[in-house]
Amino acid sequence: MTQTRATQMQVAIAAVRSAATVCRAVQRRLVTAETLQKRDKSPVTVADFASQAVVCAALAESLPDDAVVGEEDAHVLRQDEQAAIRKAVVEHVAGAVGCQVTDEQVLDWIDRGGAAASGRYWTLDPIDGTKGFLRGGQYAVALALIENGKVSLGLLGCPNLPGDGGEDQPGVLLTAERGQGARIVPLWDRSQTTGRPIHVSQVDSPAAARFCESVESAHSDQSHAAQVAQLLGITAEPVRMDSQCKYATVARGRAQIYLRLPTREDYRENIWDHAAGMLVVEQAGGQVTDVTGKPLDFTHGRRLEENAGIIATNGSIHDTVVDAVRRVLG
Ligand code: AMP
Ligand code: MG
Repeated sequence: MTQTRATQMQVAIAAVRSAATVCRAVQRRLVTAETLQKRDKSPVTVADFASQAVVCAALAESLPDDAVVGEEDAHVLRQDEQAAIRKAVVEHVAGAVGCQVTDEQVLDWIDRGGAAASGRYWTLDPIDGTKGFLRGGQYAVALALIENGKVSLGLLGCPNLPGDGGEDQPGVLLTAERGQGARIVPLWDRSQTTGRPIHVSQVDSPAAARFCESVESAHSDQSHAAQVAQLLGITAEPVRMDSQCKYATVARGRAQIYLRLPTREDYRENIWDHAAGMLVVEQAGGQVTDVTGKPLDFTHGRRLEENAGIIATNGSIHDTVVDAVRRVLG
């Protein structure tokens, strides 16, 4: 079967919506159970595995020959000591697919995400921004199709980002197809499949820009970012949020810069942390490079081996921002 882009996109949209629904249910229970303070890792573990299983099951059903490179694998989940977590995962997956499923089926779906990152494959971060997920904040289900190092499709399911209706109606899905622009679709209303186009904002003066960065100072050097902001004359406070919601925020014009400045020289970014977000920003008219201004290179397997850090902007101020980052990082 030859797949049309439209088919691939519709399958991917349905997959991300199902996964996001599972994640929202787990996060809600977390908040109501007031386990947030405990920083218990088990809810995020359950949601991570369930989300990956649900996306892989949807892809397996409609696009059975497609390879998936996901962040998780079921190795630990197969162990006897993990029976309780496994049971919870299987229950969530059964709820999402709408029928009885066996442990083995669910474990196999998760392990469908163990393909090699070469040629043509989907890459999945079942919950990007796990720290945000645990603190009741921003996180994303990120799915992208990569073909010979080129990202062709990118989707970001963002359950807690405000929709067009405002802060009290959270849940957006950003989609991008190479050459066809980026769109925003309501995340929960499955009758809506195309949404509306989105564009980066037309801010040509870096001083007037707002920038996004990680909440986690271990993931991006916030003091270097503050120096870059000062060099550029930016006075607005940084927008700190977890996950690829930062790319979404630049793509829809609510900020103009996303800085991810290395905290360690040897850290290499995971492909699933950037493939979908990069395409969404680029197709919304923005630009994404590493901190040296090099394009992101998805031809080196599971990590961006030849890149360091990330700079995403609305495009018009990109070179100026890269220049400022170069001066700060020396
Ligand atoms: P964020 O929510 O933007 O802070 O990014 C979350 C992602 O940061 C996770 O998915 C990790 O893969 C990634 N990460 C973990 N350690 C580091 C690090 N030292 N530098 C940059 N990213 C990291
Ligand atoms: Mg991630």
